[in-house]
Amino acid sequence: MSDTTTLDSFRVDTRAWLEAHCPPEMRQPVRNEDDICWGGRQFTFQSEAQRLWLQRMGERGWTVPTWPRAYGGGGLSGDEAKVLAQEMKRLNCRVPLQSFGIWMLGPALLKFGNEEQKREHLPKIARGEIRWCQGYSEPNAGSDLAALATRAEDRGDHFIVNGQKIWTSYADKADWIFCLVRTDTAKKHTGISFVLFDMATPGVSTKPILLISGKSPFCETFFDNVRVDKRNLVGELNAGWDVAKYLLTHEREMIGAIGDRAQPKPMGQLAAAQIGLDATGRLADPGLRAQIAEFEADEAAFRLALERAGDLHRAKQAHPAMSSMLKFYGAELNKRRLELVMAAGGSDALEWDSERSQHGAAARNWLRSKANSIEGGTSEVQLNIIAKRILELPGA
Ligand SMILES: Cc1cc2nc3c(=O)[nH]c(=O)nc-3n(C[C@H](O)[C@H](O)[C@H](O)COP(=O)(O)OP(=O)(O)OC[C@H]3O[C@@H](n4cnc5c(N)ncnc54)[C@H](O)[C@@H]3O)c2cc1C
Repeated sequence: MSDTTTLDSFRVDTRAWLEAHCPPEMRQPVRNEDDICWGGRQFTFQSEAQRLWLQRMGERGWTVPTWPRAYGGGGLSGDEAKVLAQEMKRLNCRVPLQSFGIWMLGPALLKFGNEEQKREHLPKIARGEIRWCQGYSEPNAGSDLAALATRAEDRGDHFIVNGQKIWTSYADKADWIFCLVRTDTAKKHTGISFVLFDMATPGVSTKPILLISGKSPFCETFFDNVRVDKRNLVGELNAGWDVAKYLLTHEREMIGAIGDRAQPKPMGQLAAAQIGLDATGRLADPGLRAQIAEFEADEAAFRLALERAGDLHRAKQAHPAMSSMLKFYGAELNKRRLELVMAAGGSDALEWDSERSQHGAAARNWLRSKANSIEGGTSEVQLNIIAKRILELPGA
């Protein structure tokens, strides 16, 4: 059989399986943050359908389709994974599980983890049993991340960790943390190690930080004499910067695709429902109509760019700094999308706390999107990387 025939039959089987196993409720658009399944020890499922959908997809390894079967993945080729994504989109299937484990730690462990670490952590990520958070930023180490000062003292078979992280997304909801620690104070980049530990370890505490959206997605995280077993060191001692950088490329691509992953309604339809149509059947507000047309063209082009980037990755031809381009543009596009949602909604969109506005979903999402150009590395820093590594412009 040719590759195309094999892929065609995979598509037919996949479509049939999804039709039979994706509960109808899981084919409705995600309404708000609470509809997203993050998994983990503390997670409460919103419905039996949500639990079942995660279980069924997890058993098949389709929460992480391209990871090897031995680590809880689906063992699919890149082309098969693309077919699965297309068929899920066709049926409007929700993504069964979102997690920092899938987007960030998993790829890093597959590349840098030892066999024991892969077998211990990856299947639990794939099945949504353990939720991870990211301990990178510190009060004095953001864009200049390698300035981090959280210390890990070598005590033979374990480290003792002391210090503070900040902006740790969902630290209060996470079960484990992947964390950058300083293991050599004499060197900057080559004195950093990458360690994993349970957030329930004595000495770990978190304090939520409130945002302008009224929500608190992240925390300050404190470590007070936290014992970390040496078997939880990923990669070599003092070589954590390589792991950190690799993980960041995955984080940036994930943020770049944020608008695509949200599976939003087409902007034209959304605005038409709010504003109505004119006598010729076009959106009644000509100014907004032009902005939406421009946005939709840019969004369609970016979706193709994301698909192309995926193909280049699978062919191992992607430029290492491509993630900075995707992150920069995807963040700008998502901010534009939510500005347009607000413009289409008019003053109603500013409603903050009513059933009708789903407790201010539009306004809260709009405010939240402002952080897209900060999280995962700021837009200015991405532009620096693009200028230096892709355009090869001379440094300052
Ligand atoms: C929603 C959200 C979620 C986050 N989640 C996490 C998380 O889970 N874990 C985690 O570890 N961190 C997280 N962060 C932190 C994030 O990674 C940092 O905020 C980011 O790296 C910027 O660091 P900073 O806030 O210290 O800003 P700074 O580095 O102090 O930057 C301040 C300003 O200076 C500019 N600037 C700095 N250096 C340069 C330069 N060389 N050239 C040009 N301009 C420059 C920046 O662009 C920015 O505008 C999150 C942040 C947000 C907003």
